Amino acid sequence: MKIQVLGLPRIGVNRELKKTIEAFWQNKLSLSELEETARNIRKFNLNLQKQMDFDLITVGDFSYYDQVLDMTVTLGAIPERFNWNGEDVELSTYFSLPRGSQDAYAMEMTKWFDTNYHYIVPEFYKNQTFKLTNNKILNELKEAQELGFSNLKPVMIGPLTYIFLGKSIQKDFDKWELLDTIIDVYIQLLQSIAPHCNWIQIDEPILTLELPKHIQQNFIYTYKKIKNAIPNNNIMLATYFEDVLSNKDIILSLPVESIHLDLVRGWKQVEFVSEFKDKFSLSLGVINGRNIWKSDLNKIIKLVESIGIHLDNNTFIAPSCSLLHVPIDLDCEQKLNPELKSWMAFAVQKCRELRILKQALNGQDVASELAQNQQDIQSRAKSQLRTNPLIQEKMKAISPEMFSRTPYKQRKVEQQKLLDLPLLPTTTIGSFPQTKEIRQTRLKYKKGELSETKYKTQMKKFIDEIIEKQEKIGLDVLVHGEPERSDMVEYFGLLLEGFCTTENGWVQSYGTRCVKPPIIYGDIVRSKPMTVEWITYAQSRTKKPVKGMLTGPITLLCWSFVRDDQPRKDTAFQLALAIREEVQDLEKAGIKIIQIDEPALKEGMPLKGQKQKDYLNWAVKAFRLATSGVKEQTQIHTHMCYSEFEDIIEWIAKMDADVISIEASRSKMSLLEVFKEFNYPNEIGPGIYDIHSPRIPSVEEMKELIKLALEVIPQEKLWINPDCGLKTRNWPETIASLKNMVQAALSFR
Ligand code: GLN
Ligand code: ZN
Repeated sequence: MKIQVLGLPRIGVNRELKKTIEAFWQNKLSLSELEETARNIRKFNLNLQKQMDFDLITVGDFSYYDQVLDMTVTLGAIPERFNWNGEDVELSTYFSLPRGSQDAYAMEMTKWFDTNYHYIVPEFYKNQTFKLTNNKILNELKEAQELGFSNLKPVMIGPLTYIFLGKSIQKDFDKWELLDTIIDVYIQLLQSIAPHCNWIQIDEPILTLELPKHIQQNFIYTYKKIKNAIPNNNIMLATYFEDVLSNKDIILSLPVESIHLDLVRGWKQVEFVSEFKDKFSLSLGVINGRNIWKSDLNKIIKLVESIGIHLDNNTFIAPSCSLLHVPIDLDCEQKLNPELKSWMAFAVQKCRELRILKQALNGQDVASELAQNQQDIQSRAKSQLRTNPLIQEKMKAISPEMFSRTPYKQRKVEQQKLLDLPLLPTTTIGSFPQTKEIRQTRLKYKKGELSETKYKTQMKKFIDEIIEKQEKIGLDVLVHGEPERSDMVEYFGLLLEGFCTTENGWVQSYGTRCVKPPIIYGDIVRSKPMTVEWITYAQSRTKKPVKGMLTGPITLLCWSFVRDDQPRKDTAFQLALAIREEVQDLEKAGIKIIQIDEPALKEGMPLKGQKQKDYLNWAVKAFRLATSGVKEQTQIHTHMCYSEFEDIIEWIAKMDADVISIEASRSKMSLLEVFKEFNYPNEIGPGIYDIHSPRIPSVEEMKELIKLALEVIPQEKLWINPDCGLKTRNWPETIASLKNMVQAALSFR
């Protein structure tokens, strides 16, 4: 029995990579200092794998920003607007692709399957040429060899997944026309690394989707070509996030040596494993790479034994997917409740679980390790910490009328009377720049260096400034700016019962942005108001309406590590009840507009058709449960971003929010296409300012976007706003951009 991983976290135990890259962007650190940090992170991962006695050592999974972007650079697929000279891409150019430059807008970013990791979307056009550029995989492979590591297994994203995830930037151009040209460069890449390794891992996670016939056929075609080009290497085709059953026959006919299967999410394929095993050496993804709970090792051993391949020398056991999606090391956590901590495993601990499994399956004596594991699993199963009778009662009392409001048309009249907003109202999404002062104040309070009274006074001062700035800019609906929130999910995680938070449990979200998902270990209870004091304070400082700002139940669910001992739906409804109480308290306190963000709605959607409808059904219900407890004149907003929402727009409409703000500017409003066919019933603000780029959009440019929007959205339904919150921007950029945005709106008014 052998062990391996598909990939490891690459942000550094203390987010070194983030910190160094950001310092590099600000010219505070040199390129060589940045490269040094990157090298150390790679070394850490290599050493970890060696220490844990891995049979294959993964390389090439490091990235300065994103692995899909890396492939774009490797293939020389740099969009024309970046004026690339065809030579090696320097790091500063590399960073300008996802961040934009003053001359070129950024490449689009979207969610990686059903995760909160974002990748940079490749762009394709007719007659595009490709060229092997920065061979980062070869470089990292050689680097690892020089450091003395052997049994190296380079990893790369496969050509079909790469094309699938990209977009054609020309109307009516079929990106699959580029397949042959792209395969050619892939072959050059593979041939360059082939002499240096036995195994090559090629990730084709799209094999877990329900693929159309022509893409399935492309698999056979492509992998025959690849196998011919590197006949002497073992190819491990990695699939994850679901089962591959809808593409089983295609996979069985592929000329590759090994298949990695996700047996956690794709548990259904367990009964088909024997078919795969006759054909391939298997990598069994049995440890959950998407969550932080300890694995039940005995259960896994039984599973592997039942498959009947435990003595087979060619079988690997592995986490279900790359460990990119979990924090690095649980040992860094000093403050976690020890009982809760004993239930958890982060990336390093999961690697350790792998080693124990290997030893156990190879007949070594690990009885005490296994006994300890069983004790931890049992302690969680029996713990009182998981249940709260109060919420169980409330869940039983949920009744049908708690899911609906009076019809929108009627509400609209009442809301207009109350709010008296102008045509094309302007607003923002919630957060304003999280300045150093703001972050330091929060930190000092957290460390106990600042009393609660002093903390509140300071925060209120920030709110004063934020309100004043918005009035000066001339926005119509204001926000308090969220200075008290380190993160839109963690903030609520700290206040709700049933959640715990970590000190250092960071996970990469996009580029240098990391998130620290809280952990839902038990029943959710809201024991006190969470936002009312801040919002009412902000409202007391202005005559304009201030939006109450909350995170919705689905986003709280998706952006936390959730308990796996009850259906996700039940947890979502518990969260919805907590948010509902907060919404009602805000209304009672005189807040007229309340925004409940659901950026993760699409991300939470299962990858397979039959499960999607069921999910959307309960997800929409959870949102409605959270938001339907208010009077008709109270305006409910929601916000969504960085996913493709086109295909679920009807479900979004069913959420019945009075207003939705939705990210659109990076795709140049391509989202709007859907409104030609679908008459969105309520109000909508497609974002016209790309907040993930430091670039300041001009008035003209934003007018252009508003014009596009007005072609498909009636003026009385259109709102003007940025794509998302502004917490990652600085004030000068923000003020300049928002002034332009308001001016653009005014010119139409
Ligand atoms: N209200 C949040 C903010 O502005 C929304 C963030 C998000 O959509 N990710 O920061
Ligand atoms: Zn957003």
